[in-house]
Amino acid sequence: MTEEGGTPEALRQWRRVVVKLSGEALMGHRTHGLDAETLERLALDLVETAALGVEIAVVVGGGNFFRGIEGAEKGIERARADSIGMLATVMNALALEFAIEKLGQSARVLSAVPMPSLCQPYSRQAALHHLSKQRIVILAGGTGNPFFTTDTGAALRAAELSSDVIMKATQVDGIYSADPKIDPKATRYTKLTHDEAINKNLAVMDTAAFALARENKIPILVFSIKERGAIRAALEGKGLATLVLP
Ligand code: UDP
Repeated sequence: MTEEGGTPEALRQWRRVVVKLSGEALMGHRTHGLDAETLERLALDLVETAALGVEIAVVVGGGNFFRGIEGAEKGIERARADSIGMLATVMNALALEFAIEKLGQSARVLSAVPMPSLCQPYSRQAALHHLSKQRIVILAGGTGNPFFTTDTGAALRAAELSSDVIMKATQVDGIYSADPKIDPKATRYTKLTHDEAINKNLAVMDTAAFALARENKIPILVFSIKERGAIRAALEGKGLATLVLP
């Protein structure tokens, strides 16, 4: 692992990846909702990554529209609030599917919350089928259950689909020893084990997601989504990132 965060040879061995895109990644400079330009940039990045011959399943969040926990704080029953959150992820997934298909690349939304008039219900078989046809699969609805997040959805789908890695796109270029926005002395890790990340209490993903990734020995690559071509660059081992390995 270099200081630049790259192990290109190892990274290029990943043939099937789960990319976790939060709702925040889709809103660009807006305070909520979707930003068309950002969607186009991410769609192009995904299409260019797929062109490398990599099978891609994207798990989309919904925080740019609604988060269950925030709804619950305002008095909405938690399970109901989470249902609203899951619906938010479907909106993002449909928008991303459109942006990808506009570029001539086939994509399919599979939702863990069945809504067949809008998209296909999620099944492992359907996801594997679409991946084998070089379609970009967009996974909506997280796990399909309240009290979870789309991070956990990403870890769950990565395990189910035998993904080589979870590519966790964030607003910072990896995992730091402390919050770099607060602590100027915070340093970025280039490489960590799942155990180290848990023992050091580093908030990479939520605990349920992390536990699932650790149990199934799935590497997690944490990288910044801010730059154009970030997903492809991260996959190729370029740019800064933290790689969490078993
Ligand atoms: N959600 C849920 N179950 C899941 C995944 C998501 O109930 O398996 C709900 C939850 O309310 C969550 C919202 O959907 O807050 C949006 O997902 P998330 O917060 O993970 O989105 P992100 O922060 O990645 O944009």
